[in-house]
Amino acid sequence: MSDDKKTATGNPLAGLKLTLLAPAEGDETPPVTAVAALHSTGEPVEARIVIVGSGPAGLTAAIYTARANLEPLVIGGVVGGGQLMITSEVENYPGFPQGVQGPELMGLFRAQAERFGARIVDADVDRVDLSRRPFRLWAAGVEYRAQAVIVATGAEALWLGLESETRLRGRGVSACATCDGFFFRDKEIAIVGGGDSALEEALFLTRFASKVHLIHRRDAFRGSKIMQARAASHPKVELHLNRTIEEVLGQEQVEALRLGKTDGSGEERLAVQGLFVAIGHRPNVAVFRDWLGTDDKGYLKTEGATTASNIDGVFVAGDVDDHRYRQAVTAAGEGCRAAIDAERWLEAQEADASQKAAAGSATAR
Ligand code: NAP
Repeated sequence: MSDDKKTATGNPLAGLKLTLLAPAEGDETPPVTAVAALHSTGEPVEARIVIVGSGPAGLTAAIYTARANLEPLVIGGVVGGGQLMITSEVENYPGFPQGVQGPELMGLFRAQAERFGARIVDADVDRVDLSRRPFRLWAAGVEYRAQAVIVATGAEALWLGLESETRLRGRGVSACATCDGFFFRDKEIAIVGGGDSALEEALFLTRFASKVHLIHRRDAFRGSKIMQARAASHPKVELHLNRTIEEVLGQEQVEALRLGKTDGSGEERLAVQGLFVAIGHRPNVAVFRDWLGTDDKGYLKTEGATTASNIDGVFVAGDVDDHRYRQAVTAAGEGCRAAIDAERWLEAQEADASQKAAAGSATAR
């Protein structure tokens, strides 16, 4: 479940103790101070590949490209680690039969990437120029140059924006039914939203909850007809149409919701122990929007079955191009694919360049 304390400024990974994967003697992991020193010269920082984002996709891409000797530089964001940093218990990431805390999992990803030499900068990219190679990216006043870029900036769940919703995140309020539904076995819970996510997650939550209250602000759903029919006919789902959530009630845990009626005819109290917010996601595409192609939902587009974007040498991985699966394990898988695509692409570029150089010197002779 989410834990909003982890969203405070500063990199929450920095405080993690990662004794399990501490580098062995002789490992050539560049210490963070060395990376900082490198960037204080005022000169652009050159890398063969820059990865933007340090969630499961970005750090998996870092592990693969580091092990391919591409010496990746990860610009991971001020608050790195992606959405798992606001998830407490992760029980569906393979390899952790007892579950793992989201921040701990991301700390392990990071330690693994650094172990193979990935340099990680805890800054946000605020501008890019992808018009030619080397590509240029700016973060915290430093210019980075790269022959290839992997964009793995993720997506953010949208929230209602209530103070009480923020306060009770991780204490009954969640934006991920797949992650947190299991914790609500035999409990009465609510889900808000009227799209396919809300309908699908309402049905998913019926596996655990004794009752699922589906709250939507209009009288018509946006989601597909078949999902609407399934939700409406499910014995555990109760629809609350034309209702808005005015407040999440409870001190330590969610106890109830204060609902407003959209016709202005008053308010209701709905006793529930959990609230799932499913009102959509926003992909983090801001700095890339002018350069990379997006689909009709605003997610970055990839070419065919690869992770290539519309710009040669720029690859895309993780939730920033995936509005369907949005899982840590699928994002990690995409990070791996992007790393392999980038590695092959760089290899082809370099082979091409040396062939041209050889042809050039033969002509000169
Ligand atoms: P969505 O289609 O954008 O729906 C968001 C819903 O949340 C809408 O019903 C909207 O209400 C409501 N909403 C937005 N802001 C709100 C607020 N502040 N307070 C209360 N309600 C609010 O998002 P989604 O359901 O996440 O789906 C995103 C895309 O992924 C869609 O194209 C969907 O079809 C697709 N998707 C597909 C599958 C699948 O194929 N299995 C599963 C999930 C999602 P209004 O309707 O009033 O605007």
